[in-house]
Amino acid sequence: MKRIAFIGLGNMGLPMSRNLLAAGFEVIGYDLSPRARTAAAESGVELASSAAEAAGQADCVITMLPTGQDVREAYLADGGLLAASRPGTLLIDSSTISSSVTVEVAAVLRAAGRRMLDAPVSGGTPRAQAGTLTFMVGGDAEDLAAARPLLEAMGQKIFHVGGNGAGHTAKLCNNMLSGICMVGTVEALALGVANGLDPAVLSDVMRNSSGANYALDRYHPYPGLMENVPSANGFEGGFRSDFQLKDMRLAKQLANDSRTMAALGDLACEMFAMHCRNGHAGLDYSSIIKMAMELPGQAAMTTPAPAGIPAE
Ligand code: NAD
Repeated sequence: MKRIAFIGLGNMGLPMSRNLLAAGFEVIGYDLSPRARTAAAESGVELASSAAEAAGQADCVITMLPTGQDVREAYLADGGLLAASRPGTLLIDSSTISSSVTVEVAAVLRAAGRRMLDAPVSGGTPRAQAGTLTFMVGGDAEDLAAARPLLEAMGQKIFHVGGNGAGHTAKLCNNMLSGICMVGTVEALALGVANGLDPAVLSDVMRNSSGANYALDRYHPYPGLMENVPSANGFEGGFRSDFQLKDMRLAKQLANDSRTMAALGDLACEMFAMHCRNGHAGLDYSSIIKMAMELPGQAAMTTPAPAGIPAE
């Protein structure tokens, strides 16, 4: 497979496309946003005038779109990717959506002679740029074997977790946990700083103790403690808080459907909902630190103290 159609050239799709180009693939791309199209063209992506035009010329189609509704429409609407792609084409959805939508779309595609993988990613924009994403793949092993050179151009770890939909199930489990970890991390930092600790020193302590986690290691939420992460850039770019909320709601739905306990997931989901309502939906999810503490130069948001906790 040489010629790749890339649909959705946003925060993730653009750096993923750049890595495909760097690995020698031809990339023909499309995005609804003129700004994203301009940035892609400046990076050497050949632009199509529609997703269908891109898909019609490609051996493989990759989608990196916001929501399940966007994915369903992009694939199945009249004149969409199914209609435009040639029989036998491999279509890979790397967006984060519900596994039920993936299963539905994959069944329609397969019935029409197309091949489909769900291959959501983890690692955020820093690792999308570095080409070191983690892929969680659902679908047939032979389709994954065909996709592997592409995925290796964009990622470092590739896991085959099951049939269609399993990739998205794994992704939702992961993002529920990463949301909980981010909230826990900002609360621990806020507690330390409020009691006189230096956030850099405290981070080093926790990184080398039982509180170690991804946010502390690679995606630090406190501005000024780590380079090349959204907290170093005013929380711009990165992984939008409303996308984190979307993923936590999808995880919550999955937990309800499978009658699984997700108490902390529910609580963290509510916190991201509040954060988005407070006007931070477009900021990276690590900006939830603003809810927990006053950052240098910024007043803290007023968070009501939890009610009903008895004094010791
Ligand atoms: P983004 O908003 O930066 O990019 C999405 C792009 O898709 C936008 O440029 C938008 O214009 C375009 N788009 C929407 N509908 C379209 C359509 N029908 N046809 C063509 N283009 C269309 O979002 P992102 O951060 O790149 O995230 C994309 C997906 O990846 C989401 O599902 C998100 O949850 C997931 N994800 C994001 C991150 C991250 O750190 N940003 C990490 C892992 C997974």
